[in-house]
Amino acid sequence: MKIVLQNLTKRYPNRNKKIKEDVIAVNNFNFEIPDGKLIGLLGPSGCGKSTTLNMICGLEKPTEGKIFFGEDDVTELPPENRGVGMVFQSYALYPHLTVLQNIMFPLENRKGKDRMTKEEMRQKAEEAARLVQIDQLLERKPSELSGGQQQRVAIARALVKVPRVLLLDEPLSNLDARLRLQTREEIRRIQKETGITTVFVTHDQEEAMSISDMIVVMEAGVVQQIAKPQQIYEDPINLFVARFLGTPPINVFKGEVKSGILYIGKDAVLKVVPDSKWKEGAQDAAPGVALKEGTVAVGVRPEGFVPRPEGELHCGLTAVEVMGRDTSIVATNDAAIGGSIRTIVSTEEIAHAQGETVNFHLKPGRTYLFDEDDGSRVRCKFLPLQ
Ligand code: ADP
Ligand code: MG
Repeated sequence: MKIVLQNLTKRYPNRNKKIKEDVIAVNNFNFEIPDGKLIGLLGPSGCGKSTTLNMICGLEKPTEGKIFFGEDDVTELPPENRGVGMVFQSYALYPHLTVLQNIMFPLENRKGKDRMTKEEMRQKAEEAARLVQIDQLLERKPSELSGGQQQRVAIARALVKVPRVLLLDEPLSNLDARLRLQTREEIRRIQKETGITTVFVTHDQEEAMSISDMIVVMEAGVVQQIAKPQQIYEDPINLFVARFLGTPPINVFKGEVKSGILYIGKDAVLKVVPDSKWKEGAQDAAPGVALKEGTVAVGVRPEGFVPRPEGELHCGLTAVEVMGRDTSIVATNDAAIGGSIRTIVSTEEIAHAQGETVNFHLKPGRTYLFDEDDGSRVRCKFLPLQ
C-alpha cells in the first residue's frame, strides 16, 4: 500500500506561553512512500519525526494537508480504522497479561463480520509470534522477558492484524548495542517477508542507513532530502545532511575559490569548474547553487583523504589510530572547523604519516562545496591541479 503525504503540516501553540508564534513541527511535507518499501525517517531530536508518524497513524490531526493510503483519503479517519500497526520506543505491553494475551489483544473486541473465535485469535497470535521468533515465550509475562524480547512482542502485536502500514517510532532506542543490531536486522527481515509498507523513525543515521530502502532526512520540521541511503551519503544536498550522515563525520573546512582554484587556508587543493551538466533552476536539476568565486565551506569525507608526501593539503599529524579494520589519521589544520580532522585510510597508506606533518591529496568524488551562509550545495566539478 503506497502512502501519500500531501502538503502535510502540523502547527502547535508554543508550549512557552510568552511566545506567540506557533511551533511548526512539520512544515509542508510532500512524499509518496512506495508500496512495500521501508522508509527511514531520520533527523535530530525535535525535528518532527514523531509528529509525522502520529499524523500517518491518526493520533495527531494535521493542521493542513492530506494523507492517502493507496487511493483512500484517510486524513479524517480515526486511528483504529486506518489499519496501521504502531511500535514505540517504550514497548507499552500490559504487565498483567501473558505474551500470548498481549499479542492477541488487538484482535479482541472486533465486531460483526470481523469477530474472531478464541481459537482463531490464538492461531493469528502464534503466527505473529513465530514471525518475530518468540513462539517459545508465549506463556511468560513481560517482566520475565529481556528488552529485546519485549520489543518483539510489541512488534508481533503490531503485526497480528496484518496492518496496511507499519509505523515504528525509535523502536530500538531502549536496547543495548548488540540487541539493537540484531533487532534491526530482524525488523528488516520481517518487513521483507511481509512486504508491509513501513516507516521507521530514528535519530541514528547508521540505523537508518542500514535498514532503509529510502531515507527522508528532516530538520526543524522541513524535509531536507529524500533518496536511497548511499545516494544521500554520496550526494548530500546541503551541509546539514552531509554532516548528519556518516561516521566519522564529514570534515568541514573554510575554503575559497579563486581563479578556478579551490584553496583551503594557503593550500591550493583542487581545480574547480562549473558543473556543465547542471543548470540552476532547471526542472530536473539536483538542488543547489552555481559555483562562484569567493569563500565556501568545503566538506571532505574521512575516506576522501589520500596521504602522500606531495599531497596538496598540509596538516599537522596528531595520531594514527587503528580500530578494527579501519585506520584513522587524526591531523590538525587551521582552516578545519574545530581545528582537527579525522580521516580513514588503508593500512598501507599510514607509511606516509610519520613525523610531525602529513600531506593529503583530496579525492574529487569525496569532496563537496557548500554555500558558506546557508549550507546549500554548490554544484561544481573538481579536477586535479595539474
Ligand atoms: P522528534 O520526534 O523528531 O523528536 P517531535 O515530532 O516530537 O520531534 O516534535 C517536533 C516539534 O514539535 C518539537 O519542537 C516539539 O517540541 C514540538 N511539539 C511536539 N508535540 C507538541 C505539542 N503537543 N505541543 C507543542 N509542541 C509540540
Ligand atoms: Mg520522537
